[in-house]
Amino acid sequence: MSLSPLTVAKFGGTSVADHQAMLRCAHIIKNDPSNKLVVVSASSGVTNLLVRLSQKNVPEHEQTDIITNIRAIQLNITQHLAQEQMLNDQIAELLQQLSEFSNAQSLNYCPRISDAILSFGEQMSSRIFAQVLQSVGVNGEMFDVRQVMKTNAQYGKAVVDLEQLSAHAKQSLTPLLADKVVVTQGFIGQDEDAYTTTLGRGGSDYSAALLAEALHADNLSIWTDVVGIFTTDPRITDQARAIKEISFGEAAEMATFGAKILHPATLIPAMRQNIPVFVGSSKEPEKGGTRIQQFVESSPIYRSIALRREQTLVTVKSPAMLHASGFLAQVFGILAKHELSVDLITTSEISVALTFDNPTGSTQALLNSTVVEELEQLCEVTVEHGLSLVAVIGNKMHRSNGVGTSIFETISGINVRMICHGASEHNLCFLVDEKQANETVEKLHTALFA
Ligand code: ADP
Ligand code: ASP
Ligand code: MG
Repeated sequence: MSLSPLTVAKFGGTSVADHQAMLRCAHIIKNDPSNKLVVVSASSGVTNLLVRLSQKNVPEHEQTDIITNIRAIQLNITQHLAQEQMLNDQIAELLQQLSEFSNAQSLNYCPRISDAILSFGEQMSSRIFAQVLQSVGVNGEMFDVRQVMKTNAQYGKAVVDLEQLSAHAKQSLTPLLADKVVVTQGFIGQDEDAYTTTLGRGGSDYSAALLAEALHADNLSIWTDVVGIFTTDPRITDQARAIKEISFGEAAEMATFGAKILHPATLIPAMRQNIPVFVGSSKEPEKGGTRIQQFVESSPIYRSIALRREQTLVTVKSPAMLHASGFLAQVFGILAKHELSVDLITTSEISVALTFDNPTGSTQALLNSTVVEELEQLCEVTVEHGLSLVAVIGNKMHRSNGVGTSIFETISGINVRMICHGASEHNLCFLVDEKQANETVEKLHTALFA
């Protein structure tokens, strides 16, 4: 086994959006020889186009337009490369397959085909990036991650088989890393029938972390469009500032509570193997970034604020719950049957409030129909959409005096729905109306971080 350090470097969509962006990434790889495995996302905008293509009943002219658009994004990059013709041939072949999947999807919608469609962005960007590496004198080679990223068949949200990943990675990836920089795809995997799967939107971060774990990497670098993890999303307030160092626990909480900078599951593999994670900007690598690791020098009460939009709150109310046992089990039984996973829970004597994340809109549809009808057999049900979850993240928040007062006095003019505090030492979170979400974060940021 080689003793030289191994870094897995992941580049997100904006980092591989065009030729200039890809060149910057190639120099990052070239400047640090420990960067031996590169995980790329699709070029910016491509996955969103593919999402549209993967839906039901997309008119034929729209399908053609989408594929034309995607081709333009990719050819705009390949025109700068010596291997242009070879790459354009490969892209043409992939787009031919894509158009066949797209036709099949419009005739007879199927989630398996959706995932096949969604995978083309990464398939193209990884081929192109390997050639961009070659253009700066790095021996880059594309590797199809589906050889190692074996998953179940839960299309759109596939679960990776860690044992298979580890075994296949050792067998087919490790030998390649000895004398090449391997470029592979984030986000995609393959089920046991050899159908392509995807790990969920934003899943390339998670792919990179899983590969880092499987290869026992020394570091994981997430290169994106901001110079690290900020005290809150810099798109919400320009007062947000980059954090130099943050613990696994705090950063994992941020990711779980909606800080889009990292896919929610990214830190789980890194924590399992204590692999330090770096987050920085591929546009400004010289500016440094955030280090996420097990132990950090300072553990402030307030570290950051995360925001997760499109939350649904369901309140179930029944006088029968008073002193009764088994009511909650029945409620959860119904939710489990419909594969709805509850995020947060608060209870009072006769009612329970539950929140649901709604990344795709499917939760909303379910909660509007079947599930509510079944719950109504048991109790009174109220469903509220259009909410945002604000999470204040920090350390020992459950044991620090005045946390609740500081937070809620600051936003006293805002109507706060459900509050969760105490279950985690790292956060206090609550729901507000979607329309007041940004204002809430701005006010809290000024009060807690200015
Ligand atoms: P990539 O395509 O590189 O994966 P993403 O768009 O998924 O990039 O994530 C980066 C974005 O995450 C930033 O542009 C920023 O708007 C957003 N973001 C949300 N919360 C934070 C935060 N706390 N710190 C930094 N960025 C954040
Ligand atoms: N390309 C995928 C997406 O846009 C995965 C990723 O970028 O992480 O969701
Ligand atoms: Mg991302």
